[in-house]
Amino acid sequence: MNTLLRIAIQKSGRLQEGSLDLLKESGLKFSNGKDQLKTQARNFPVEVLFLRDDDIPQYVEDKVADVGLVGENVFAEKQKKNQIVKRLDFAKCRLSIAIPRAETYGGIPSLNGKNIATSYPNIVKDFLKKHNVVPAGIHEISGSVEIAPGIGLADAICDIVSTGSTLLSNGLKEVEVVMQSEAVIIANPDLEPEKQAILDKLLFRIEAVKKAKN
Ligand code: ATP
Ligand code: ZN
Repeated sequence: MNTLLRIAIQKSGRLQEGSLDLLKESGLKFSNGKDQLKTQARNFPVEVLFLRDDDIPQYVEDKVADVGLVGENVFAEKQKKNQIVKRLDFAKCRLSIAIPRAETYGGIPSLNGKNIATSYPNIVKDFLKKHNVVPAGIHEISGSVEIAPGIGLADAICDIVSTGSTLLSNGLKEVEVVMQSEAVIIANPDLEPEKQAILDKLLFRIEAVKKAKN
């Protein structure tokens, strides 16, 4: 039987283009139709699966995929049996705490007793715990987190920031960086030797592409 390494990438969103470019620049030839869920490379023992990025860490843990390409923030939030095997230098952003612009920020201890809205509850919990802060609550919201303070849902938020313009237009200011993030390749920590060999070959190519660009 011919072993294929199954690589999961984001089906649509901010990581999609960079993920496809990376695989194609590494020499993989495959088709990617709009409604395609998976495709096999014509010249490399790889199958590409197109999935929602938030689901990728679970699929990698379950070995539905062997390898995945996600934001480091998603990797950190999901806390699955995954390891980072390559950092990719794109989709750079940070996860930050923001509060209403009119308020004075009194440092991390001032978050004690506050309600915080976020799509990243595990990361926020770990961050606050590390700083001995006990919030009133951490409210998980899957999108439009930045409107939460304005509608009275929370005192503060923790969300992805790249330029800060979304925060500004919602009357918020960034007060604390919780983590820096970039696109990463995650892998199941116990891949079969055949799959590991394919992954090593692919990582070698990715590194070569990266060197050629610098
Ligand atoms: P959904 O899964 O609901 O489509 P999402 O926020 O998970 O939404 P994207 O917006 O496509 O998906 O973001 C995917 C990843 O890209 C994020 O997890 C993060 O790592 C990175 N990212 C998000 N926003 C930015 C940004 N403004 N600049 C750079 N990278 C970003
Ligand atoms: Zn997502």
